[in-house]
Amino acid sequence: MTPPISSVEAEVFERFHDAVFVRDMEGNIHFWNSAAAALYGWPSHSALGTSARALLQCRHEKETYDGVDALLLEHGYWEGELSRLTGNGSRRLVNARWSLRRDAAGHPVGVLETGYDISLAKETELHLKATEYRYRNLFQAMAASFWELDFTAVGPKIRALLDAGVRDLEAHFLAHPEVVRDFMHSTQVVDLNDHSVRLFGRGDRTEMLGAIDRYWPDESIQVYARCVAKSLTGQPNNIEVTRLRTLEDKEFECLFTACFSKENIARGVILIGIIDLSELAEARHALEIMQTELAHVARISILGELSASITHEINQPLTSISTYAQAGLRWLQRPEPDLREVENALLQIVDEAQRTNDVISRIRSMALRRPAQETALALNEVIQDSLQFTDHELRKNSVRLTTDLAISLPPVRADRVLMQQVIVNLVMNAAQAMACANSTTRELTVRSEVVGANEVRLEVLDSGPGIAPGLEGKLFDSFFTTKATGMGMGLPICRSIIEAAGGLIQLANRDDGKGGAKVAFTLPALPHSSALGRGFPHVSP
Ligand code: ADP
Repeated sequence: MTPPISSVEAEVFERFHDAVFVRDMEGNIHFWNSAAAALYGWPSHSALGTSARALLQCRHEKETYDGVDALLLEHGYWEGELSRLTGNGSRRLVNARWSLRRDAAGHPVGVLETGYDISLAKETELHLKATEYRYRNLFQAMAASFWELDFTAVGPKIRALLDAGVRDLEAHFLAHPEVVRDFMHSTQVVDLNDHSVRLFGRGDRTEMLGAIDRYWPDESIQVYARCVAKSLTGQPNNIEVTRLRTLEDKEFECLFTACFSKENIARGVILIGIIDLSELAEARHALEIMQTELAHVARISILGELSASITHEINQPLTSISTYAQAGLRWLQRPEPDLREVENALLQIVDEAQRTNDVISRIRSMALRRPAQETALALNEVIQDSLQFTDHELRKNSVRLTTDLAISLPPVRADRVLMQQVIVNLVMNAAQAMACANSTTRELTVRSEVVGANEVRLEVLDSGPGIAPGLEGKLFDSFFTTKATGMGMGLPICRSIIEAAGGLIQLANRDDGKGGAKVAFTLPALPHSSALGRGFPHVSP
């Protein structure tokens, strides 16, 4: 019987890096090279003469061993992946090639197998598949829109700009929006998740692929421009709140994130994530309306508390008008009317009428329901305006007022009426605290000052009973009050107004050794050059 391998072949196969072994048609091993010994962990003297099937306990993913043998006999050649047992009991995955050996008469005499270990490669491939699967799952399952953009066509355009001497790309893009549009036209959506189709599309995913400029309203194209500029300077991402547009032409507010990982940039790919903020924006808007309403109700309630003062403020000029009118009449009714005195009386009447007009304007502006209008305000002016509201109330309660206002206070950005509301509220609280406690000395100080480089502070100090122990943490809670007819909304509203303007408010006992409470708020200062605004339209009575 012809041996399945010659000694010359054996010598050649010994030099192979692949594991090579030869078996006869019964499966007994006749040749076993060093690489086979290394791969399977059996030295050649242990392997030779033994059954390959018993030694290696071969498994194929789909076929039986006999099935693979049958394929070999049919085609004379077979190639596939086999799991094999090794000398140390572990299994290795081997890529094996079998070829049938025949004698001179063409009868099969043996099988030559060459193989190499693919366990590690397979493991890596499985790991990659699992990662890809997880990534796909995340890509699809997240309630956010994810896109993969191909910007390879933008590369040469950027190079052309740099070659033409453009150094500051962001500035160039700002000056040339048409260039940004052209870049966007060359940037393609190559992949996106289902959420993106729901958010931007009309149900057809393929319709959404292609140039991205359709999704960018003019006001947002600089977001794209900044992405291009940042990706070139090696920054890892660009995150901005912006507006994008759906295929149905509906614009919405969103949080836009572009990631520039080095691997992706090298492939000409950018990943972007988009989170729809429109519901949040609607909720924020509804909350703003509610806060405006609440602040308005609270203003009306303060005006209610001030009604006696208001009546007094209006009655005073009206009484003067009546007095001057009677005096004028008397001068006219003289046998020789004194027209100079009449003129004087009329001028006084005009002045008093103007005073009434001013009081009514001031009250109407407080009473009006209007959305907040932030402007640059001179806080000292707002303090003076506010103290006009409380003037009578303070005098009625024998409160001595001291104002200590910083000269050259920088402006702050806030709504004038809301600021007045805060100051009136704090002053009224202080006056009420002193009156309720029957304090013998009733002193109130309103102070404004600059704090550090960029803050303005207002303080209201009183000589009342101060804050009772244990109440400090509750004063700003909604509906917390210690007054019989209090509503407990003054301080929470003051806090929401101050915080909306970027500031902080605190109420505590005075720390200067004198009894009483100190309420203080700080607001960010604007540059002195900011143009000051009145913040509310002039209201005629
Ligand atoms: P209200 O005036 O309706 O009570 P606020 O929210 O304005 O509601 O005030 C809450 C509580 O804070 C007051 O009831 C009072 O107990 C306390 N408070 C506010 N200002 C002072 C102050 N200057 N001195 C002492 N307690 C104060």
